[in-house]
Amino acid sequence: METRIGFGWDSHEFKEGVPLRIGGMTLDHPKGLAGHSDGDVLLHAVTDAILGAVAAGDIGSFFPPGDPRWKDANSAIFLNLAMEELHHAGFRIVNVDTTLVLAAPKIAPVAGEMRSCVADLLGINLDQVSIKAKTPEGLGLDNVAQCHAVVLIEREADADELKSMSAVIETQKQLEDVVEDLLSSVHGVPKKRTVTPVYDTEDIT
Ligand SMILES: [Zn+2]
Repeated sequence: METRIGFGWDSHEFKEGVPLRIGGMTLDHPKGLAGHSDGDVLLHAVTDAILGAVAAGDIGSFFPPGDPRWKDANSAIFLNLAMEELHHAGFRIVNVDTTLVLAAPKIAPVAGEMRSCVADLLGINLDQVSIKAKTPEGLGLDNVAQCHAVVLIEREADADELKSMSAVIETQKQLEDVVEDLLSSVHGVPKKRTVTPVYDTEDIT
């Protein structure tokens, strides 16, 4: 199974009068993160990690900061685009690990809900998403939020093949025929099933 890894990093400055959006959630805090979009530092880092894993550029190459369409945009849009690129390249996510670096607010009390939100946005399970947080000790960056993200991806099974198979199988009989074909392709000869006769006990003539 082919696997790849991607890394993303982002930072935004805190600013009065804007909502604080992290991990697709709005957090209760007097300051938000300044940015052309909603400033969701975690979703931006994860977006770049996914794009990086499939060597598809970065968030800025798809969404230039000066483009008025992305003013105050919900960063879930960026993540969705990265997922499209991921699937287009034939991969799916194995797991995502992130570390937020910020002085406040405390992330631990909302980390579970945030993981759930990010897992939903990525269409993966809760246990495939990790969100950790640290304070920026000694960095002198208490007015900044940073996020580091790493993602592991693996190649998906051939989607076209699966699609054509599911299109063929509509009845139990077709399913049995497909299984028989598969068996004969493995064993070299058609493997006949033993047919059990059906007796109608109400009609013994
Ligand atoms: Zn950003």
